[in-house]
Amino acid sequence: ENGTHFLELKQVESFYGKIQALNGIDLYINEGEIVTLIGSNGAGKSTTLKSISGQVQPKTGTILFDGTDITKNAPHQTALSGIAQVPEGRRIFPRLTVRENLQIGAFSVKDKKVVSERMERVFGYFPRLKERLEQKGGTMSGGEQQMLAIGRALMMKPKLLMLDEPSMGLAPIIVEQIFDIVKEMNKEGMTILLVEQNAFQALQIANRGYVIQTGSIVLEGKGSELMTNEQVREAYLA
Ligand code: ATP
Repeated sequence: ENGTHFLELKQVESFYGKIQALNGIDLYINEGEIVTLIGSNGAGKSTTLKSISGQVQPKTGTILFDGTDITKNAPHQTALSGIAQVPEGRRIFPRLTVRENLQIGAFSVKDKKVVSERMERVFGYFPRLKERLEQKGGTMSGGEQQMLAIGRALMMKPKLLMLDEPSMGLAPIIVEQIFDIVKEMNKEGMTILLVEQNAFQALQIANRGYVIQTGSIVLEGKGSELMTNEQVREAYLA
């Protein structure tokens, strides 16, 4: 069933100079799934996302998205093809307002009505952002900034949303809220690739998961299976 998946990575190898960060990653996502990629520090989770988004150029291997080979796409081409990435550490524009940050997410849309419709949709998930429209992004709390970063990604109306450690540095109750919203977005049709060190919560909401170790996928399975897997429990859920 080659080429039938929504997103598919085949034997992707990526480098930083001479350092090999990915040693041949194989993974796929079907439309409508939440798939999580878990692993410890430096395992290659972010590099996998960056290889998909085009920030890192794979040296070998293939990445197919929605029937198209995107292996060599630049980041803006990947974005236009329908893949949005919420980077690790959020990276919102601190000096711009919430409104301006959201507008930047829809930079490719000229029609103001479409932009405001998308904004309303974002407010449906994150009512807090509507209350804070004129606040500078950098003065928001960590959780609010994460909401803004996800909201900004949603403004491009992606077909695939990639989240890089959305739980990082957030209080457990905020993490729970964010994960609930991720689940909600998925219920409404969004396909999601979720990178997490917070394996337990990620596996709870994921249909399937992959475990990455030093640049290789070492385990894959249903979220529920991985959660009870002895190896996973020892390494990531301790
Ligand atoms: P973390 O959770 O700590 O972000 P990760 O699983 O996302 O970890 P990556 O950031 O993908 O891991 O890093 C994979 C490997 O590539 C690591 O050995 C890391 O040191 C290396 N690496 C990442 N970025 C660079 C870079 N810009 N230059 C050189 N090496 C890098």
